[in-house]
Amino acid sequence: MMRRKNDNKRYFTRMGTRKKVHAFVRVKPTDDFAHEMIKYGDDNKSIDIHIKKDLQKGVVNNKQTDWSFKLDGVLHNASQDLVYETVAKDVVAQALDGYNGTIMCYGQTGAGKTYTMTGTTENYKHRGILPRALQQVFRMIEERPTHAITVRVSYLEIYNESLFDLLSTLPCVGPSVTPMTIVENPQGVFIKGLSVHLTSQEEDAFSLLFEGETNRIIASHTMNKNSSRSHCIFTIYVEAHSRTLSDEKYITSKINLVDLAGSERLKKSGSEGRVLKEATYINKSLSFLEQAIIALGDQKRDHIPFRQCKLTHALKDSLGGNCNMVLLTNIYGEASQLEETLSSLRFASRMKLVTTEPAINEKYDAERMVKNLEKELALLKQELAIHDSLANRTLVNYDPMDEIQIAEINSQVRRYLEGTLDEIDIINLRQIQEVFNQFRVVLSQQEQEVELTLRRKYTLIDKNDFAAISAVQKAGLMDVDGHLVGEPDGQGFGLGVTPFSAKPGKKAKSKKMFKEQLRPSTPPPKPVAFEDFKNERGSEINRIFKENKSILNERRKRASETTQRINAIKREMDVTKEALNFQKSLREKQGEYENKGLMIIDEEEFLLILKLKDLKKQYRTEYQDLRDLKAEIQYCQHLVDQCRHRLLMEFDIWYNESFFIPEDIQVSLKPGSSIRPGMVPISRIMSLGEDDQDKFSQLQQTELPEGPDSFSFYNAKVKTEQKHNYLKTMMGFQQAHRK
Ligand code: ADP
Ligand code: MG
Repeated sequence: MMRRKNDNKRYFTRMGTRKKVHAFVRVKPTDDFAHEMIKYGDDNKSIDIHIKKDLQKGVVNNKQTDWSFKLDGVLHNASQDLVYETVAKDVVAQALDGYNGTIMCYGQTGAGKTYTMTGTTENYKHRGILPRALQQVFRMIEERPTHAITVRVSYLEIYNESLFDLLSTLPCVGPSVTPMTIVENPQGVFIKGLSVHLTSQEEDAFSLLFEGETNRIIASHTMNKNSSRSHCIFTIYVEAHSRTLSDEKYITSKINLVDLAGSERLKKSGSEGRVLKEATYINKSLSFLEQAIIALGDQKRDHIPFRQCKLTHALKDSLGGNCNMVLLTNIYGEASQLEETLSSLRFASRMKLVTTEPAINEKYDAERMVKNLEKELALLKQELAIHDSLANRTLVNYDPMDEIQIAEINSQVRRYLEGTLDEIDIINLRQIQEVFNQFRVVLSQQEQEVELTLRRKYTLIDKNDFAAISAVQKAGLMDVDGHLVGEPDGQGFGLGVTPFSAKPGKKAKSKKMFKEQLRPSTPPPKPVAFEDFKNERGSEINRIFKENKSILNERRKRASETTQRINAIKREMDVTKEALNFQKSLREKQGEYENKGLMIIDEEEFLLILKLKDLKKQYRTEYQDLRDLKAEIQYCQHLVDQCRHRLLMEFDIWYNESFFIPEDIQVSLKPGSSIRPGMVPISRIMSLGEDDQDKFSQLQQTELPEGPDSFSFYNAKVKTEQKHNYLKTMMGFQQAHRK
């Protein structure tokens, strides 16, 4: 289980088994060994302490007389060689496999911590764990030709909570300006400012060790500090890369060899100055060390108090937890030291209960990873090519697209959106992704264009920018509800101030405001705007329209009257005809009179004949009138239709100009300038053919709303149409003149 939050980015490979902190005890050889008090177990893994009753007083202020301590090994009269074999060998060996390891010597001053850790520098045989560990590391490197392993070392001293670099005297280091600090990052903990030295061979490593040891001794004199009052941490950093190129994993590890400050309980009472300060720091740091190690062993604990002191903070990633950890407690064998010996053994047995879960520090070599991925990619491409040829697919290119290919996809997407391309063929995943990508590109371009157009027309105010809104409100451009003055609310027109078309007296002013300052975000409803248009720019067309309509109505009225008259004449004719027929039959019954071949009729019949003749004449005249009227009506109807069409078209243009076309474009469309969308002189309205008008209105509908880009096209088209219409009109006039 991983508990340390900072470890997210590190890679651990678990051994899967929990281990305990290994606790050993080394007894300093003495001629005065307290045989009757200190007894070792047969397996050399336990120590029993027995205090005689009469001795108890004054030695240990306790009623207890017997203690038994279970440990991982008791080193009694053990050689430096055996100590190394027992305590350090495995930890160092595992460091080369990626496990961090920490070996600490704990105990009262003079009990043999430094002897155990460093040994004597004069006698090779008596060298301690430090030089032996370095030797083992280099020996193991020689045994592993498959790996490129680098070794670095550093030597840190912590005295009274201050950090000292014991290798800072080396020429390559140079004087440090800023004090050292402990830094945590995802890779772990390191001491900023502490010199770390690459060592390619054993001898170099030894030189560094001796340099450090010498500095330790010198410092104790020059700085008046007791070396047994400081903690010393010698660190060996190992980094192992596989020599086979395919292996992108590599391992890193640290071996911390810690010579702790003397653990003896320094009496605070009576101590003063430097001694009191040292005592306080040592007592605190050793007790924090114990707390941290115990907390690490407690799986229920989330927070480990590493930062309480420099010692635990610097060792944060090397204490318990994921490391192999060994505690070697150095004790005296003499009766006089029994009190401190008991204290040290208690500490050791507590540490023995702490469990750890060692894990490999695995990291990934990015460069090698890239190389391996490139290789795999090439292989997969070959594989794809084989599949394509087996599936009878023409060679598909799976490489990243170049600019030309991307431009082609962009064009496809645009054509697809316009509707000129029905579908975009799927080629491969990369192409599909690029199609989507280009959709996004086109979309965002269109959004920008729309925004640009809006910004040309309107001053856009951020709805959340209350300062700007209140400024606009103050200027009277916006009502309290945040609506722009004159803004339609769907029902009427405008909310705060009188709508521009509602009050005839204020019309001109409000309209100006409406157009020039307050182009509303939503235009007024068309029926409302239309009324306004008819009174303003469309007034002339509207007048002509109305005139034509009244002429039409008058002609219709006349036609209807004529029809009524014709019907009356027809009825009278029918009556007259009937009366005439009656006279004729009467005459035939009475016998006819003939005179020189001429039929003699009576006066009554004669009058009827005259009347019928007159009626027929009237009928013909009226009928002719009606026919003329009908032709005129038809013509008038046509004019009225054209006028209406024209009116609506002009309105549409006006509506677009007023509410949709950006102002800068309108400048070129203003009266006086040659370009005027749809504004053919009024005199020519009548001559516009239906087809031209249709084209015009279509043109407006299709081209105008498209935005600025369409205007050069639109203007050119309008100019051409106007020229065409003008010529047509002139020809019409000439023809009419000739008639
Ligand atoms: P510490 O570092 O715990 O204060 P040292 O390692 O300095 O104690 O030991 C004090 C003295 O005892 C030194 O002179 C050291 O050589 C000697 N000494 C300690 N342990 C042994 C041992 N196991 N064999 C021989 N000499 C020892
Ligand atoms: Mg020492």
